Amino acid sequence: MSSRPPDDNTPADRTTDDECWLAMEMQAPGRPLQAVWRQALPAPQDGQVCIRVAACGVCRTDLHILDGELPFPGHAVVPGHEIVGRLEALGGGVTGLSLGQRVGVPWLGWTCGRCEHCLAGRENLCTAARFTGWHLPGGYAQHVVADARYVFALPDRYGDDEAAPLLCAGLIGWRAYAMAGATAQRIGLYGFGAAAHLIAQVAVHQGRQVLAFTRPGDKAAQALARQLGASWAGGSDQAAPLPLDAALIFAPSGALVPKALQDVRAGGTVVCAGIHMSDIPSFPYRWLWGERRIVSVANLTRTDGEDFLRVAAAMPLRVHAVPYALSQAGQALDDLRAGRVSGAAVLRC
Ligand SMILES: [Zn+2]
Ligand SMILES: [Zn+2]
Repeated sequence: MSSRPPDDNTPADRTTDDECWLAMEMQAPGRPLQAVWRQALPAPQDGQVCIRVAACGVCRTDLHILDGELPFPGHAVVPGHEIVGRLEALGGGVTGLSLGQRVGVPWLGWTCGRCEHCLAGRENLCTAARFTGWHLPGGYAQHVVADARYVFALPDRYGDDEAAPLLCAGLIGWRAYAMAGATAQRIGLYGFGAAAHLIAQVAVHQGRQVLAFTRPGDKAAQALARQLGASWAGGSDQAAPLPLDAALIFAPSGALVPKALQDVRAGGTVVCAGIHMSDIPSFPYRWLWGERRIVSVANLTRTDGEDFLRVAAAMPLRVHAVPYALSQAGQALDDLRAGRVSGAAVLRC
C-alpha cells in the first residue's frame, strides 16, 4: 500500500449510474453548505474502500471548519467524520473486509507511519495526518472513499443512527476520559452534548461519579444528564458542589478552563477535549497551584477506537440521536450552533 498521502480529489470513475447521488459541500469558509449532485461513483484506489453511507454524525468540528476556525484546505470540503455505511467496493490489496460489511469511519483518516509521533505510537499527533471530512472526503454524502486501514467494525447492538455518534463524540470523549486517569472518581463534564452524554454513561457504568455542567438554564440538557446517571447537573456558571478529581471540557469556551480549575481539587486534571476553543482568559496562579494540570486531547488513535468500541459493545449505551435528512445538513449545523440539539445530530444519507 502506498505511503503517499491520498489524493484530496479521488477520481470519480468507478461506474456510471443513471441515478445521481448527493453530497453536501462547503465551497469556502463562511458560506452555506451546497447540495451537489454527482453521477459517477467514486473509485477506490489500492488500499481504499468505497462505502454506501447510511448515517453520518454532525460534530462541532464541522462548524469550526465551516466558520474558518480551522484552516480551509484549499478545495471544496464534504464534511462529516462519524460515518456509518456498508462496503460497496474494495480497492486492490484490501484484506480483512468484505463487501456489504457495515463499517465506521472516524476523524483520523490517514497517517504517515514514519514521523516521530507515529513511531512512538501516538499517531493522533502525526505531523502529516489527513482527517476525514476536512482534508479527505467526508460523510455528508451518499458515497465516500476511505483508507481501509482506518475503518472500524461496529458493534451490532447499535443501529446506524446510534453508531454514528460513537465515531467522534464517543471516541474523543473516551480519550478525554482516559486522560482524567484511572483514579479519578468524581468527574465533571462541561458542555453536555454529544460527547458528554455518551461518556457520562461509560463513567457511571465504571463506578465513577458524574457531575454535568451545561449552558446556564439549559434544563433539557440537565434533565438528560440526570437520566443518564449524573449525580448532579447545573449550569456552568455554578460552582461544583464538591471538589472534582477531573474536569472534561467539551464546550468550545476558553472561559471554562479557569472555571474548571477552581472546581478541581489539588492534583486534579482539566482536560480540554475540543479541537478549537475561544481564548482562555488569564487567571491567578493560585488556581493552577497544587499540581493541578491542564491538558488537551488531540484527535484519536486507532487503538482508542478499538478500545472504545469494545466498551460500547459490552454495555448498552443510550445514544440520543436526533435524525435529519442529508439535504437538511445546514439546518442540523444551525441547530448545533444554537444549542438546540439534545444529544447528537445525525444525518440519514
Ligand atoms: Zn468530531
Ligand atoms: Zn506520522
